[in-house]
Formats: sequence, structure tokens, C-alpha cells
Amino acid sequence: MAIQRTFSIIKPDATKRNLTGAINAKFEEAGLRIVGQRRVHMTREQAEKFYAVHAERPFFGELVDFMISEPVVVQVLEGENAVAKNREVMGATNPADADEGTIRKEFALSIGENSVHGSDSEENAKIEIEQFFTEDQIVG
Ligand code: ADP
Ligand code: MG
Repeated sequence: MAIQRTFSIIKPDATKRNLTGAINAKFEEAGLRIVGQRRVHMTREQAEKFYAVHAERPFFGELVDFMISEPVVVQVLEGENAVAKNREVMGATNPADADEGTIRKEFALSIGENSVHGSDSEENAKIEIEQFFTEDQIVG
């Protein structure tokens, strides 16, 4: 498997509790390199665009409100098999189902306020990275 890039967000519940460094340590321990990183307070428009795939889900309004409630940290992670590796380090969407040692098991508050986002495919990673980063902001 070649070196890949994936898109990550440290969500408002985590930035609010000062967990950016603790979460980044999990990525780095897993061999993921943080090659782009920026703190941003998303606009409603940005959050709605980012989560457009979930627009019909009952939790969409709540999800958008949450994502704009506090600043987030948007990131590009790079490494061997980065998309799957990141999903593994994150753990299951619902922290109650997440494996020991994962970010969501250790830090998430609920299925909604679950501390991190990670792309689910290489194709979506590319689209998501392009929403928040220009190529010169990513330094591998
Ligand atoms: P993941 O972030 O693991 O890829 P999804 O893409 O299914 O999960 O959902 C996107 C985000 O929407 C989740 O990370 C979570 O913040 C929120 N979410 C998902 N399911 C629910 C739910 N049942 N109730 C509230 N929020 C949810
Ligand atoms: Mg998802």
C-alpha cells in the first residue's frame, strides 16, 4: 500500500477540552504524520457543505450546530494506508462501540460529540482536503 493522505478534524468537544495535543499524539504514535494543520471556526455554510452527504439524516441540524459551536482543527494526515489507519485510530462512530485505546473510546462524549472526523475513502479524502487546504499549505 502506498503513502496516502487523509483529512481529519479535531471537533469542537475536543478543542474545547484542550485535547488537540493528546489527539495528535495518538495520530503520531500510529505513524501518521500531520502534514497540514489549521485552526478554524467553521461557518454554517462550510459545515453544511462538508456534511452535505448527511443532509437528509435526522441528526443533520444538530451536527451542523455542533460543528460551528467552537473552533475545530482541520488536518491532513499522511502515511502508509492513511485512510484506514486513521479510521482505526479514531475508533467506531459511537464511543460505546469503540475499541480500547482509540481516540473515541478515550475522549468522545457521545455518538454526536465524538471528538474527531476522518475521511472514509481516498476519494472523499481528496475532496475534503480540497475544501480546507490549498496545495502550498500541505508540506509533506
Ligand atoms: P463517522 O464520523 O464515523 O464517519 P458518520 O459519517 O456516520 O460517522 O457520521 C458523521 C458524524 O455525524 C458522526 O461522526 C457524528 O458526529 C454524527 N452522527 C452520526 N450518527 C449520529 C447519531 N445517530 N446521532 C447524532 N449524531 C450522529
Ligand atoms: Mg463519515
